[in-house]
Amino acid sequence: MDDVIVVGAGPAGNAAALGLASQGLAVTVIDSRRVIGDKLCTGIIGSECVRRFPIDPALIYHQAGAALLVMPQGGALRFEAPAPLASVVDRVAYVDSFARQAQAAGARYILGQRVVQAQVDASGVTLWAGNSGEESYRARSLVLAAGFGSPLSRQLGLGSVPDHVVGAQATVSTDNIHDVEVHLGQQVAPGFFSWVVPTRPGQALAGLLARRQAPERLDAFIQTLRQQGKITGVVQAPACWGIPLRPLKRTYRDRVLVVGDTAGQVKPITGGGIYYSLMSGELAASTLGAALAGDDLSASRLSQYQDRWQALLAAELDVGYCARRMYELLNDQQVGFLLRSALGAGARSQLAEGGISFDWHGRVISRLLGHPALSGVMHLLSPLLCRLAAQTSFQPPAMSDQETAPSLGAAGHPSAES
Ligand SMILES: Cc1cc2nc3c(=O)[nH]c(=O)nc-3n(C[C@H](O)[C@H](O)[C@H](O)COP(=O)(O)OP(=O)(O)OC[C@H]3O[C@@H](n4cnc5c(N)ncnc54)[C@H](O)[C@@H]3O)c2cc1C
Repeated sequence: MDDVIVVGAGPAGNAAALGLASQGLAVTVIDSRRVIGDKLCTGIIGSECVRRFPIDPALIYHQAGAALLVMPQGGALRFEAPAPLASVVDRVAYVDSFARQAQAAGARYILGQRVVQAQVDASGVTLWAGNSGEESYRARSLVLAAGFGSPLSRQLGLGSVPDHVVGAQATVSTDNIHDVEVHLGQQVAPGFFSWVVPTRPGQALAGLLARRQAPERLDAFIQTLRQQGKITGVVQAPACWGIPLRPLKRTYRDRVLVVGDTAGQVKPITGGGIYYSLMSGELAASTLGAALAGDDLSASRLSQYQDRWQALLAAELDVGYCARRMYELLNDQQVGFLLRSALGAGARSQLAEGGISFDWHGRVISRLLGHPALSGVMHLLSPLLCRLAAQTSFQPPAMSDQETAPSLGAAGHPSAES
């Protein structure tokens, strides 16, 4: 019997498998895909992720130090950081590189097999895979890393993530786009954003996040990009997939740990989850490795994994989710005001000096909200901050008494756009 079966060979599953196999444990990874890592994703990772989980430089399309923010009511702001903040990478090859390392450490990979059922008993975990569950596998423990919306999480009594958004993306042809572009506004992606990210020469990924009608909105966005002469055609048709915005309440039970998108370990502002999945996969491997060595796979022993990932990520996920929900309540005029204030001369240089993290948004949000130039924004947001603070552990920063922002309606909702 294996020590561990890992379901899912994405960033989370591969990082867990690598950590576990490196401890000399018997690990099997099962994935329904035949091509590891070939999941809908833009492949942007922050510089900190590149340092902690190195990538073959040949897999980096380009480093992104600048971004063009296309504003809701027209015009654009170009933001340039003193050093590259992120890299646009070949996501499939990057994720596969961790599977190769795990295999070199002794992990066995079974591809093209969908796990359809999981059951925990007193001495182990049984999994059934294949169209009608004709293959069965047994191990002492399970790492569930099956990505967004896995029914296995519900089957195991751990529920599903409480909030999510839909990501839609297509590969487009272009010879005209050199910066990462982020487009904002109710027309394009209400409450979220759309993007054009150059990748290989002559190609880019165009996508957006939306709670509703993501495919229709992406079609309209692509149409607009064509009309503007930014892109020339669609190379690979649009596809959609879910992105969690809140984590599971419980990411462990006896013999089982849940990691990555299945657990909801994703940055709620951008929907980026590769880095958090890799880190959580590592944490799962070290907790589970120690539990296997001590032959204590009880829920209370494995709860240490949740303590550890929450110590690392929970505040970040909480602040990010609060900021996200507030942003969703703003109208285009307010979004424009917020961004112009945030990227105005004073705040911009302070941010640049203090360092902007692609991966730790809570710090950036706190620094922005504490900046004197944004006191008007604080007044704009104050009713929402107070409401959200009451619902979560988020502590709104202190405000000054200037007032320059577009006003919110009586109930704290944005006033209708003029
Ligand atoms: C449009 C879009 C763009 C994105 N862009 C970025 C980005 O630029 N940067 C970033 O950091 N994040 C991005 N993300 C999020 C990122 O892709 C995920 O957070 C990340 O892949 C999560 O890793 P994971 O290992 O948890 O899950 P996944 O990468 O989804 O891997 C899960 C694996 O489990 C397998 N699986 C599922 N169910 C079963 C089953 N029953 N049996 C066997 N195998 C199974 C799947 O085949 C898959 O290979 C994006 C997401 C979307 C939708």
